[in-house]
Formats: sequence, C-alpha cells, structure tokens
Amino acid sequence: MINLILLGPPGAGKGTQATRISQKYGIPHISTGEIFRRHIKEGTEFGKEAQEYMNKGELVPDSLVLKIAEARLMEDDCLEGFLLDGFPRTVNQASNLDIFLDERNHSITHVIDIDVDKELLMTRLIGRRVCRNCNANYHVITMPPEKEGICDVCGGELYQRSDDTAATVENRLEVYNSLTKPLLEYYEKSGKLVHIDGNLEPDDVFKNIIAAIGDSE
Ligand code: AMP
Repeated sequence: MINLILLGPPGAGKGTQATRISQKYGIPHISTGEIFRRHIKEGTEFGKEAQEYMNKGELVPDSLVLKIAEARLMEDDCLEGFLLDGFPRTVNQASNLDIFLDERNHSITHVIDIDVDKELLMTRLIGRRVCRNCNANYHVITMPPEKEGICDVCGGELYQRSDDTAATVENRLEVYNSLTKPLLEYYEKSGKLVHIDGNLEPDDVFKNIIAAIGDSE
C-alpha cells in the first residue's frame, strides 16, 4: 500500500509529479491547495476564510486545513492508498495526521522531498499557467500550450494563479523555509524520507520517484 506525502517548496513540480504518480499507482491525488481553490470558486465559508491567507501567500490555519484534509481522507477511495500534495505543511499538521492515521490503523509509507534551487522556483512560479477546468499545468516559456491561453488536454481556459505573482511568491518561499522545512527533520526521524533532485526534467524526476517508491505496490 502506498500512503505517500510529496514535500517540496512551491514550484518544485509537486502537482505535475503528483498527477503522474496517482495515475501510475491508481491512488487519489489530494491537494489541499486545490480543495481550497474549489471552495473559493464555489464561494463557501471555508473558501472565504482560506482566501485571505492564500492571497498573501500565508498558510491557512492548521485547524481549517486539518478539517478539510481529514474529511477528504475519510472518503472511501483513500482506503487503498493516497498521495498528499501540499499537506502537511507544518509539524503540527504532520503530527495530527499521524494521530489521525494511527487511529485508523494506517500510516504514512513514503515521504518524497522534491528539492529545487530558489532561482528556478521563482522562474517556474511566475511563468506558471493552470487550466481552469482540469488543472493541467503549463509554463509560458518552458511548457507553453499549443494555442496560447488554451489547455492542450481539455480546451479549457488557462489562467495565472493569483498567488503566483512576484511579491506573493517571495513570501510563499519564506513561509516554506520557516514553517514547512522543519518537516524534513520530522520525517527524517521516521526513516521514510527520500530526497529527489527536482532541478531535472519532469520525466527524469518521475523516474527517480518511481525508483524511490520501489516495489511497495
Ligand atoms: P498550493 O496549491 O499547495 O500551492 O497551496 C496554495 C495555498 O493554499 C498555500 O499558499 C496556502 O495558503 C494554502 N494551503 C494549501 N495547503 C495548505 C496547508 N497544508 N496548510 C496551510 N495552508 C495551505
């Protein structure tokens, strides 16, 4: 069984790799950021509360994140494994997640940290475009769609996330360094942490992740 966490700064390519991993192993891809963006689009109370923090590049409070993450993990499709992308992001979220899983006789099996140089992260985030419909990711320079502004996969409209602007990106990277990086030490202790070089091409990053997961299907 694979209960995997993808760690790494914003722009590390977690979303891109998560899509591929979830397809290969047939496990649901759970992105708390994506769940929040859906709530914002639908105008729910959760969405309104989360948006204030997201627009500034800050973390949404743990209590709210844990509520939505645990609700998602209780859905039936998570019984045979799952992939977490962008959650946990604080040591408090991680320890609550461990308790939540332990109570259900489950545990995290793999933690993959995708490591990328800061300059590359900035370039990737500021040039990133996302499909409004299917969430496929593009980049204006390195991975443009065939038709400008249109998703190759589904024909949906591409947009720039409101938190992918230069000022917000800088803050998100600082927040990552101060609040999320300590998670590496947390998971190092459990012996499940593997570091992957995310400066490489996406195909190579994916191959290295598969190799790290090994035969634990
Ligand atoms: P992401 O799509 O993972 O880059 O997340 C976008 C934004 O959603 C983050 O910058 C945070 O404001 C918020 N967010 C997503 N996941 C979490 C989390 N686990 N903890 C706190 N805030 C989160």
